[in-house]
Amino acid sequence: MEKIAIFPGSFDPFTKGHEDIVLRGSELFDKVIVAMGNNTNKKRYFEIDRMVGLIEETFKDIPSVEVILYDELTASLAKKHGAEYLLRGLRNTTDFEYENSIAQVNRTLNPELETVFLITSPKFASISSSVIREVHGYGGDVSEFLPYTI
Ligand code: ADP
Repeated sequence: MEKIAIFPGSFDPFTKGHEDIVLRGSELFDKVIVAMGNNTNKKRYFEIDRMVGLIEETFKDIPSVEVILYDELTASLAKKHGAEYLLRGLRNTTDFEYENSIAQVNRTLNPELETVFLITSPKFASISSSVIREVHGYGGDVSEFLPYTI
């Protein structure tokens, strides 16, 4: 059976840290679905459709990586796509605390869904979407942290 993983996130913006998780995940799974949460109540900094295009562009040479938008429970989304794995990245203990509780809830909602964590590569450990938004907002150069040009 095909091993399908969903990599859910806000990706506001999608960073080199996220790219690293997807690339490493694509070595482990037959398909990686990058699923960008499209929560209409949450205000985004980077325009969502543009970000989808930029992520697609980033993985244009890797056919096993797909990019989608979603606005539902991740556990249900996984079921719909036949995904048995949820891929997440871990940078530090703060990520761990947060990810631990989400993973437990997701397991309760969909017991067939296994959350798989990849520890960040050291060179990307300090990259966070929120810091990039802050730097970009003040006109700083964030190109170093992104796998595409904005
Ligand atoms: P969310 O809002 O769902 O946390 P994010 O877009 O912030 O979405 O992150 C998606 C996933 O990527 C999370 O598992 C997060 O821990 C992970 N991640 C974020 N930045 C990095 C990084 N630099 N290295 C590894 N994983 C990361």
